[in-house]
Amino acid sequence: ALYSLTTCMAIAVAFLFNDLFHPGRPGLIPLPESTGQEVAAITVSLKDTLMNIVPDNFLGAFVASDMMQVMFLAIVVGIAMGRMGKYSESVSHFIDSANNLFGTITAMLTKLLPFAVFGSIASMTVSLDFAAVKVLAKWTGACLCALLSMLFIYLLLLAVLGRLNPMKFIRKFSPATFTGFVTSSSNATMPTTMESCRRLGIAPKIYSFSIPLGANVNMDGTAIMFTLTTLFVAGLYGVTVEGSALASLVSTIVMLSFAMPGVPGAGTACMVLLFSIVGIPPEAMSLVIGAIPLIELFMTAGNVTGDGVVSTIVA
Ligand code: ASP
Repeated sequence: ALYSLTTCMAIAVAFLFNDLFHPGRPGLIPLPESTGQEVAAITVSLKDTLMNIVPDNFLGAFVASDMMQVMFLAIVVGIAMGRMGKYSESVSHFIDSANNLFGTITAMLTKLLPFAVFGSIASMTVSLDFAAVKVLAKWTGACLCALLSMLFIYLLLLAVLGRLNPMKFIRKFSPATFTGFVTSSSNATMPTTMESCRRLGIAPKIYSFSIPLGANVNMDGTAIMFTLTTLFVAGLYGVTVEGSALASLVSTIVMLSFAMPGVPGAGTACMVLLFSIVGIPPEAMSLVIGAIPLIELFMTAGNVTGDGVVSTIVA
């Protein structure tokens, strides 16, 4: 519950900074041409959105790449498997293998990412003027300020809920925050995070559960980046995110932060999915993909710090 609470707070902070900085407006940047998927105005009602989460057929959800439907199916399958007794073992084995298969394919593709980023930034630099660079800097600045504000919220939570002097936390936990920053991976940082928790005096029975859990389900920094980036790009495309699109966006960000692994590039890989929810073409990724690795350093530091803060409060 605490992990979900901090994620919701992170999303709220991101909305606040989007309103303060207002980095995305139509006409600021030449937009990449869409090669198919059009920008659709969001006119669907909340009722339709909820009804649409239930797919007509199992495979249709995958064929249409409708992530809300896929997540709905995942939950239904999970509940059903919990009731299947011994048969669930083989299904679970199959799902694990499929998870591994797609994870391996993604890892193979991610190796090409540096070339994609190089190409994307090179072509962007050619076509962008200084004013456009300023626009991107504003969005990056909004992300960094929101992440910094989240840090203050953490310290406040520590003082109020954890009754701990925040300075003590900063002193003992900073190695984990810095390791998160340099590795861009909550998972790779886990040993340092646990060591920092030990130095804070947290009992091993608490942190040996809360840190691995948090490294995989608690992504406050990523939630901030997700929210601000989607709103920024939506602004550039003149798409207003409200009503059902807003509800889908927020719930998907919460679910993604639960489902995403704490490895480098995980958030970047999921970004397009959020674009599709608000009706932005996937090509828009080329606008932001160059700066996300920089933001990822800070957001992973935020993700790791969030895990430590919640563990400390629980302890
Ligand atoms: N790199 C992040 C982490 O490990 C995950 C992400 O890409 O958002 O926490």
